[in-house]
Amino acid sequence: MTNNVLIKNAHAILTGKSGTDARSKASDIRIKQGVITEMGNGLTQQDGERVLDARDCVIYPGWVNTHHHLFQSLLKGVPSGINQTLSPWLQSVPYLYRHSFNEERLRLAARIGMIELMLSGCTTIADHHYIYTPGMAYDPSAVLFDEAEALGVRFMLLRGGATVTRKLETNASNQAQPETLDGMLADVERTAARFHQNGPRPRTRVAMAPTTATVSVRPEDLKYIARIARGMGIPMHTHMSESVSYMEYCREKFGCLPIEFLAEHEWIGPDVSLAHLTHLTDTEMQILGKSGTGMAHCPQSNARLADGIANAPMLEKLGAMVTLGVDGAASNEAADMLSEVHFCWLVHRAKAGAATRPRPEGEGEAGADSATAEQVIHWATANGAKMLGFEGVGTLEVGQAADLAVYDLDAPRYFGLHDMAIGPVASGGRPRLKWLLVDGAIVVEDDAIPGLDMAALRAEARADVLRLISDV
Ligand SMILES: [Zn+2]
Repeated sequence: MTNNVLIKNAHAILTGKSGTDARSKASDIRIKQGVITEMGNGLTQQDGERVLDARDCVIYPGWVNTHHHLFQSLLKGVPSGINQTLSPWLQSVPYLYRHSFNEERLRLAARIGMIELMLSGCTTIADHHYIYTPGMAYDPSAVLFDEAEALGVRFMLLRGGATVTRKLETNASNQAQPETLDGMLADVERTAARFHQNGPRPRTRVAMAPTTATVSVRPEDLKYIARIARGMGIPMHTHMSESVSYMEYCREKFGCLPIEFLAEHEWIGPDVSLAHLTHLTDTEMQILGKSGTGMAHCPQSNARLADGIANAPMLEKLGAMVTLGVDGAASNEAADMLSEVHFCWLVHRAKAGAATRPRPEGEGEAGADSATAEQVIHWATANGAKMLGFEGVGTLEVGQAADLAVYDLDAPRYFGLHDMAIGPVASGGRPRLKWLLVDGAIVVEDDAIPGLDMAALRAEARADVLRLISDV
């Protein structure tokens, strides 16, 4: 497939870039062999080009989802965990069910999650998978890469796992068998040798990502793990400061704050991304900002688990790299980047407004510019690609990969908009996805994935949820 496409007549094109470059003046995009070669107005069809008419549509870069647990796509709305906070929820849902995952179930869950994401305009998926035990009968990493390839999306494995059993699990009858450090590192090395690509426009990448750096490995191994990752030239990722329990644990066990602990162990910097960062002190934010550390911001999951609202705008001001992830669907009930950006756009205003005080002591009304539509799009596209190391991906400009979503705002929800360009973010909902392109290849057309039997997928999902319920 040559992937030569001419997109014409778009109502608006948002580039994923920040500031005055956020909106393109162009209405047309020319794509040759998967790369954007021209943007302008009145471009004419050349030999071998397929023309896509984007009249009344808005075009965004494909979303880059920087933190997810695809296996949880079959664990949405589990009643025992629906009103629980992070620690009991971990025990009631992911820890309880993860033993039920075999190759077939992981494959189904990954497929559902990836399809959901694609239908929300996502073209790059980073999955923090952590179900690894010694002597497994299948290779979960290979399954995930395989499903991503079949659907035609970019995929990064944030290779999780643990070499110790965390305290939360020590009394559980079904605690996971931890890996040995050598076993884990050898597997990361094998997986990276097979799947880790550098730019431009890599399709697959790998990161070293022990599930939660403070509890999943021995503290004395953490620095060594960082050095191995940097020696291999792969980025690092982990969960961090998702709830107050992280602070309580680090203060008690290490006598310092979680980010201070990470800094001491060489786990900060532009090649490190941390999921959540909901509870941070000012000192910790300064450390992350100065070091240019990345943040996978997951506001819907954080809200669902009552973790709090991470101060992403402040982290960005201080120099950290803010990106967006949906987190696992067991704590979000969806894998929808559109609803994530919509919620993100709203919630920072709510947070800022909640902190205002009447004059003269306070500043009066404030905070409605806490996160603009262009800013959250920038986080969820350009920043995500940059943080994960997908060079040449994440923005719509000449020379970049043609990863883009064409949204048709043909629904009453979007009627009456004075600025259609921000409709998908500001009005929420799910506009009809006319086309989704990855490297110029059409992976969604007319809101459907060509060749996908949705009725069969629905039936498989329903049957498997019933099996899961009867298994535990
Ligand atoms: Zn997570």
